[in-house]
Amino acid sequence: MIDTDPQAPPGPRALPTPVRAPLADGREILFFAQESEPVPAADHRELPPQPTETPTLLRRDPQTGDWVMIAPARQLRTYKPPRQMCPLCPDPSGRSSEVPAADYEVVVFENRFPSLSTAHRGSGFALTADDGDLTVEQPGHGRCEVVCFSSDHEASFAGLTPERARLVVDVWAQRTTDLLGRDGVEEVFCFENRGEAIGVTLSHPHGQIYAYPFRTHRTRTMIREAQAHRAATGSNLFEDILAAETASGERILVRTEHTTAFVPFAARWPAEVHIYPNRHRRHLGELTDAEADDLARVYLSVLRGYDDLYGFPLPYIASWHQYRSDAAEGYLHAELFSVQRSSDKLKYLAGSESGRDAFVTDKTPEDIAAQLREVIR
Ligand SMILES: [Zn+2]
Repeated sequence: MIDTDPQAPPGPRALPTPVRAPLADGREILFFAQESEPVPAADHRELPPQPTETPTLLRRDPQTGDWVMIAPARQLRTYKPPRQMCPLCPDPSGRSSEVPAADYEVVVFENRFPSLSTAHRGSGFALTADDGDLTVEQPGHGRCEVVCFSSDHEASFAGLTPERARLVVDVWAQRTTDLLGRDGVEEVFCFENRGEAIGVTLSHPHGQIYAYPFRTHRTRTMIREAQAHRAATGSNLFEDILAAETASGERILVRTEHTTAFVPFAARWPAEVHIYPNRHRRHLGELTDAEADDLARVYLSVLRGYDDLYGFPLPYIASWHQYRSDAAEGYLHAELFSVQRSSDKLKYLAGSESGRDAFVTDKTPEDIAAQLREVIR
């Protein structure tokens, strides 16, 4: 079922083509599969149509230049539903779930309660330039998607087969390529929040994708540092980080032919792990077949190590950094971290972290690496 998406630019590997279907309120659902042909059923729910005006706003913080997404409708979103009401479990009757089908492998659909959407206009969106105006407000243009990794409510990403994890990597790649090609989209962010401690309101294994109309604060900061590094040394910051970590070996967790996982030198979070492809790639769609397979396997082994760390499913955030193919310095990588700082204590973002974005951590990155090496195989 893997074949080339006609919308995708020629790349080093074929990305999967989704089977697209409409949901009852006009949103789009995309079925991805490698073993079976998806068979979407009709969505018979009586849902209010999606608003024709974007219900969310962007406001620019004049102090920092950061954009804030204001999305009051998200107060209404589904909150910890009972198992039999799970909106991510497949439902062949099309009456009780977001996924009208008897079963599925991986599905993606537009979030019913999005922080960003394209409701207000089809094309032509551009962010207002910074001209000194202190009250810049724009529609919340963009797109928010939900990605279900499995139809099994009790599954977790760590428990997926390598083949399914690879399909998810390819789905992220296909969505990234599609969304980056759309008008007004500046950055595509694939991520997974796992665990109630992170604030997850649905336990079914899933992640999300945000297509932002702006560059996020962390991306801007990293690119600025990479440009400064280029000016000072003539080389790419992330290539140099990977080479230095590999040479030292002190914080390396896994190193394979195509992929390296390590605890970063200045880790901010408990159990922080970064995963890089060994060759400079800018987004998941640029990986070769062998690199994508390898990345999926290393990612799985880190997540399985996470769950062995304290003997229970570790709450974590998995955050993918991707860039356009023509981005000069950007380097595809995953940043994973947890709020679990010991078997029975959570790390809270308090004064220094929340008020100043200045992290204090109570474990050295070398100790984190030593602890994780014991559980990652
Ligand atoms: Zn479910």
